[in-house]
Amino acid sequence: MAEVQSGLNGKPRFSRILLKLSGEALAPAQGSGLDLDALAEIALEIKEVAALGVQLALVIGAGNFIRGIDYEARGMDRSTADQMGMLATVINSLALQNALEHAGVVTRVLSAIEMQALCEPYIRRRAVRHLEKGRVIIFAAGTGNPYFTTDTAASLRAMEIGAEVILKASHAVDGVYDRDPMREPGAKRFDRLTYIEVLQKNLKVMDSTAISMCMDNRLPIIVFNLRKAGNIRRAVMGEQIGTRVESAP
Ligand code: UDP
Repeated sequence: MAEVQSGLNGKPRFSRILLKLSGEALAPAQGSGLDLDALAEIALEIKEVAALGVQLALVIGAGNFIRGIDYEARGMDRSTADQMGMLATVINSLALQNALEHAGVVTRVLSAIEMQALCEPYIRRRAVRHLEKGRVIIFAAGTGNPYFTTDTAASLRAMEIGAEVILKASHAVDGVYDRDPMREPGAKRFDRLTYIEVLQKNLKVMDSTAISMCMDNRLPIIVFNLRKAGNIRRAVMGEQIGTRVESAP
């Protein structure tokens, strides 16, 4: 799809976006699980962006419940632990669907692992059709394969549906820094980075598989802070927020 060139005329800069939320964005400040107030807030932000006519697809992680690698470290087989992680993304997807529906946003969950009693299977053409009809879609169960992450699922699905950008929402920081800003007060935030810089400097944007996919397909990523109200809208309108990762000019 063609990217609308400027957000300055009051129109959104993008017409189809993929928003990646980590599982932790849905968790209470302390501990794991789901914070229904946080879900309701996110739903309202998404509603605001959908009302601009922007087509929205979401990918949700599961760090608020299970990360496969943690259970592997405790002795489980990685593949089984990752399958548990993928199931946990379905829990988060259903919870966000519920919050969106309560906000009046028509939403469909499409799972990479078939669960027909709970949600639709992922079928690319159907996903695109939902978007064209103005429905928000949530991609659940990651890529459906162990040894991947939901960041990679976000890159893959963004490519498949022709999204113009990945908005990578962070619940803690307002962009990409040269060092951990939570521990080092002098850490510097980047406004702009190339994919290669992210990979070479090993910066915490998305995992390297996801970054490589975006690099190969020239899909820009904007990393921004979800906790600041209105930020999803700002990113969609083309305002300079957070850190933009893209090809060298
Ligand atoms: N996962 C997987 N394959 C995928 C996506 C996710 O196996 O394609 C599993 C993996 O165990 C991962 C967990 O699901 O740790 C949750 O995803 P992720 O760690 O990306 O969640 P986030 O950090 O974004 O909350």
